[in-house]
Amino acid sequence: MRTVCAYCGVGCSFEVGERLKGDKSYPVNEGMSCSKGISQLESIDKNRLLNTYINGKIGNYEDAINLIAKKIRNTKPERIGFYLSGQMLNEDYYVANKLAKGFIKTPNIDTNSRTCMASAVVGYKKAIGSDYVPVRMEDINHTDLLILIGANPAESHVVLFNKIKKAKKNGMKVIVIDPRFTDTAKIADLYLPITPGSDIDFLNLVAIRLIKEDLIDKEFIKTWVDGFDELRENLLKLDENELLKRSGISKKDFEKFMEMLKDAKKFITAWTMGINQSVQGVDKNLAIMNLHLITGQIRKKGSGPFSLTGQPNAMGGREVGGLATTLAVHLDYNEENKIKVAKFWEVDEVCNGPGLTAFEMIDKVDVLIVCHTDPIYHLPNRTFVEEAFSKIDLVVEINAYNGSETSKFAHIRLPAAPFGEKDGTQTNMDRTLTRAIKFREKRAKQDWEIFADLGKALGFRGFDFSSSEEVFNEYKEMTRLSPDIDIYKADYKELETKPFVWGEYALKDGFLTENKRAKVYFVENKNLHEMPNKEYSFILLTGRTRDQWHSGSKTAFVKSLKKYKPLSFVEINEVDAKNLGIQQGDEVKIISRYGELKTKVKITNIKKGSVFIPISERRVNFLTNPKIDPISKEPDYNHTAVKVVK
Ligand code: SF4
Repeated sequence: MRTVCAYCGVGCSFEVGERLKGDKSYPVNEGMSCSKGISQLESIDKNRLLNTYINGKIGNYEDAINLIAKKIRNTKPERIGFYLSGQMLNEDYYVANKLAKGFIKTPNIDTNSRTCMASAVVGYKKAIGSDYVPVRMEDINHTDLLILIGANPAESHVVLFNKIKKAKKNGMKVIVIDPRFTDTAKIADLYLPITPGSDIDFLNLVAIRLIKEDLIDKEFIKTWVDGFDELRENLLKLDENELLKRSGISKKDFEKFMEMLKDAKKFITAWTMGINQSVQGVDKNLAIMNLHLITGQIRKKGSGPFSLTGQPNAMGGREVGGLATTLAVHLDYNEENKIKVAKFWEVDEVCNGPGLTAFEMIDKVDVLIVCHTDPIYHLPNRTFVEEAFSKIDLVVEINAYNGSETSKFAHIRLPAAPFGEKDGTQTNMDRTLTRAIKFREKRAKQDWEIFADLGKALGFRGFDFSSSEEVFNEYKEMTRLSPDIDIYKADYKELETKPFVWGEYALKDGFLTENKRAKVYFVENKNLHEMPNKEYSFILLTGRTRDQWHSGSKTAFVKSLKKYKPLSFVEINEVDAKNLGIQQGDEVKIISRYGELKTKVKITNIKKGSVFIPISERRVNFLTNPKIDPISKEPDYNHTAVKVVK
């Protein structure tokens, strides 16, 4: 038997036996796996939530469902929110989306992918017409140069990193752009220690040089790209020296970058949270896409802008419609789409949207259903988040595990099935749909069953599903309404052994806009992020470490995974440490304008003026600032001004 990993967006397949083993026959991981992935058998039964709790006391599941239904009936739809997760399977997403948008008629259904991928979603939609990732992992075997900006696959996407190392042995060059000298940077042919917040300056400088040195693909631009003249005109007004200075990269290193770029016939740019999690996240994405569109480095094997998805099914959530900004299956809110979707779900009408996004909804709803995620822990400016949650009339937590920070604020807690006990499909970072297969006795209901029970308790038709396969089949039919998702061609049984890649030919006849042309946008670094000052003089960066998954409700219980790195530490540059009289292992206070925490010092060669705290430190968001990108609504987790006190 085989199943798919429930951690990162690589989507590795495992053979299931006494232990989990990378599945050799599976094209995504070809037998590879990582320590976190294969630890899941060890963690599956630890720390499980197995009872229903009503106001802190063990209760009955049916009573809890009826209580939730009663409260929903007595609440205006616009005061009801669903907070979903990239850990849910497509079937779970589908039933939740149908229930919220089609029947309860609230558009306030968002996923925690809002906090990691929303800027990439908007970037792709603006540039190429759809939330479509135009690069596959195997493309790195066909490229000359991989530029990693704001991404650390050595810790966040381990199997992809192994693929990168293999491609590198075959001649591919790697450039890493990051304020931290990460484990990924160790294999780089060129490492550029960029100043936090200056990505747009750097990317614009590259675009200027490409234009000035006539390294652009004029034929491609003429045939396929709108907006180039305006982009060129605005870029050429910028001061190159100023851009370079702001990027914090030396002239010598920048010229080396340009040489490597010129030498590459094909290049891929890949990024994650260092780009997306920013008050200017959309513009950073667009600046990357500009480079690919003006050079024609897209729509051909071994090239393109590649947003690396963090969670196992963040992509699936985007496809099904788990984001408050879309209706379903990549359909935006407009009259035509609303009619189509209402007809499909056999309802008079669907809700009006877009809805409130993750960070926006928490202080504007009276009922909040949180599923397999922990917003108290992961949303920024935690003091505000806790206050907002404490004012919500009814918080429901659906979770397979105990101990989330959100559980302390939940009036009703419902146990749910985790990896190994649920069946369905998920989509990895490169549009590969894979079956998650139940391989052990279920000890709780699967999420979609809980949402279906709630739908039935509310008296709605259309929730009598008897299996995940039945849900999948309804979902796949719905993708026929989509402009680009062809999941209707997939077969549930076949997915057990063979993945399905959707949208393989989506760019065959051009881009996914109405006129088939892509668009470039002039974007500028407007320095919208929180600025340091004399008092708060450091910039706090956050991110994953290799062996921990988010708050650690599973991984922190696996002994072998704790060896690599502690759950909590702060990285600081050696010169900064010396100036502050701080030594390795000292306990320090990190203080921002929003909160503080104590942790131990790890001296590294992180960029001077920056500090890094891993997200396995559960208190990290007491520090982070509340700014969000105005379009994608993604929080700026990577640019909070802090001070370090011994
Ligand atoms: Fe799981 Fe990602 Fe590790 Fe693969 S690389 S085993 S998908 S955590």
